[in-house]
Amino acid sequence: MFSMQSALASSFLVGKIWGIRVRIHFSFALLLFILGLLATVQEGVVYGLATVFFLLVLFFLVLLHELGHCWMAIKTGARVRDILLWPLGGLAFLEGVSSDPNIRIKIALAGPMVNITLAILLCPFAVISEGAFFLTLIKINLLIGFFNLLPAFPILDGGHIYHAFLSKKWGTQVATVKALDLGQKLALILGVIGLFYNFWLVFIAVLIYFAGQEKLQKQEAERFFSSPYSQSPTPKVYGRDEWNKFVRQVENFFQNRRF
Ligand SMILES: [Zn+2]
Repeated sequence: MFSMQSALASSFLVGKIWGIRVRIHFSFALLLFILGLLATVQEGVVYGLATVFFLLVLFFLVLLHELGHCWMAIKTGARVRDILLWPLGGLAFLEGVSSDPNIRIKIALAGPMVNITLAILLCPFAVISEGAFFLTLIKINLLIGFFNLLPAFPILDGGHIYHAFLSKKWGTQVATVKALDLGQKLALILGVIGLFYNFWLVFIAVLIYFAGQEKLQKQEAERFFSSPYSQSPTPKVYGRDEWNKFVRQVENFFQNRRF
């Protein structure tokens, strides 16, 4: 069984912010190296370095996004031990998150709000400066902010917001089924769009799809085993199940195909 510990063990520590360990997964470091090398071979050293710099900026913005979630989570009484950055974005491992839907909405919103606020704050710099650097930063921030607001449960922030809204009316279990239903449909749409426009989207769609499947199975199992007399609160860890499931899928893929 794959655990969060082993996922984190495949990463290295880059620093600590507010007592939260910030880690980079080895696959991101590898990707950075490969893309930098490819760019250097194709266009020269300057282009190679620019590619690495661009990717580092991108992941710094993702880190700020995750810190937005963490800040709100800590403010509302949760604990955060690790942030993991990997090629598909960031994961904040939150513990003890309140079950209050309004607090969950605040935590989920805090990440995208960081990027949207940054985009607004960068506008004057884009107007003053001559190059396209600040304009690119604004576009990336808007992309990270609004993409994460898509209601694709259980991976994207918009999905958690949608789930929290539904749970106010229907309760958690029904909300999960309804949010997963939309999430799975969105995963299929994103996957198809990704095939034509950007292959990264396909990976994210696969992640949303499998994480959704696992959540559905888990919920079915919980419903089967739970009784009104044996319910106990389970600690909620954002992203952990999703991460474990995805890593297992990747592991299975490579175990089945030895090159
Ligand atoms: Zn987020």
